[in-house]
Parts: sequence; structure tokens; C-alpha cells
Amino acid sequence: MLPINLLLALGELAIVIVFALVAIKARALDRGGFLASVAVGYAIFLGGGWQWFVVIASFFIIGVAFTWYKYEYKKKLGGAQEKGGARNWPNILANGGAAAVFGLAELLFGGAAFAVLYLGAMSAAAADTVATELGLLNRTPPRLITHPGTKVAPGTSGGVTRLGFAGSILASLAIGSVAAALGMLGRFSPAFVVLVAVVGGLSGSTADSLIGATLQRKGVCVVCGSATENLVHCGRPTERRSGFFFMDNNIVNLLATVVGAGVSLALAAVLL
Ligand SMILES: [Zn+2]
Repeated sequence: MLPINLLLALGELAIVIVFALVAIKARALDRGGFLASVAVGYAIFLGGGWQWFVVIASFFIIGVAFTWYKYEYKKKLGGAQEKGGARNWPNILANGGAAAVFGLAELLFGGAAFAVLYLGAMSAAAADTVATELGLLNRTPPRLITHPGTKVAPGTSGGVTRLGFAGSILASLAIGSVAAALGMLGRFSPAFVVLVAVVGGLSGSTADSLIGATLQRKGVCVVCGSATENLVHCGRPTERRSGFFFMDNNIVNLLATVVGAGVSLALAAVLL
């Protein structure tokens, strides 16, 4: 006789795989991104159940939708995501890695704290993604968060815009509303859930800009000479000019989700 739990776990895995297959078919994921998404999505589904999975699926759909929005225009600016916005495995782990760890922690230990951490991490990932994509469409150039008098090129890490800020609020409101509608935090009021998500999301995306302006690696392509934040450009490793050598955009994103999670938990602890 098969235990029901095993059937349930296999059913959940099937749902995660189908979601990732649809995403790869829509060119929202590449192959490595597919495998990373299944791993991250399944850890979250097992730990927090379908409600948690709907939250990360919502984040993914919102993120991809904003990446696709005016993609050709953003590409001309030089700030669009590469490969049509298809997410690769580092991107999936940067945005969902901390959330997956909270999913596994919920599975092993349980308790409301991990749900709050998870909500904060997802809200931060969404806020940061939408801020970046909408920020590229801002009419005036971004200003450096650490030196508001300094204008930087669209897409530069650490640059902030009004539209980007509006995007972070919108995205974290959306994630908070989904979580509240699903009753993800059980006994907590919907207003509380939305507040925790918005504060976590804004803190995460602010942290992303601050780290982006200070610790993130910035360099120059040794082939074409353009300023770049990538570790590799034109097929060659880039020359570092400032920041830590390992601190690329993905590491900064991961740190931002951890900050969002921590701030959400701190706020929940203070309010309860
Ligand atoms: Zn180059």
C-alpha cells in the first residue's frame, strides 16, 4: 500500500515540473534555469504547501512580465536582460535560493517565523526585479543612491529612479496581497501580511541598490572597452575597477532577499 504522503509529494513534484515546462516553452527559462526552478519550487512546495508555491509562481510571472514589457526599447538602452529575459540557474538561485532554504526549514522545523522570512524574501525579489525593469523606462537617468547628485547610465547597479521606486511598492503590494488572499500567514490579518511584505520588499530593494552602489563589482571589458558589471564580456573575463571580485549582480540579489526576509521577521516580531 502506498502512503498517501508519497502520492502527495509526487503530485506536488508533477505540478512544479509542469509549471517549469510551461516557462521553458515560453522562453522564460533556459535549461539550467529549468533544473534550478524545479529544485527551488519543489523545496518551497514541500515545505509550505501550495500557498507558498503560488507566491513564488506569482513572483516569477510578475518578474517575467515586466522583463518582457518594452523589451526591445530596454535592449536599445543596453539595460535589458540577456537572451530575451530567459532566466538562467544563477538568476533562479539569486532570487529563490534563500526562499528555498526557508521552505526546507519550514519542512524540518515548522513555525510561523519561516513563513514570514519566506514572504519577506519573495517580496524583496519581486520589488527588486520590477524596480530594475521599470526603472529602465524612467524619463530621466537614474541617480546613485549613495550620491543623489550623480547621474548614472540606465541599468547601472546602485542607480535609483522614481519609476523604479514605484515599481518596488507595486510588486511588494502584489506579493503581499497574494499571500494575504491565500491566508499564508494563517492567523495574521491581511493588512498585517501586506504591511510585512511591503516593508520587507522595500528594504530588500533598497539594500540591493546600496550594495550595488558600494560593494558590487564594476569593471571594463578587455575586448570592447565598455563599462560592465558582468564577470565575462565579449567572451573574455572583465577587468575589475571597483567592488569585490565575486560580488556580481546575482550575489547582490541573493543578499537583498536575505535583508528583505530579516526585516520582515523583525517587523513581525515588533508588531506581535
Ligand atoms: Zn565587450
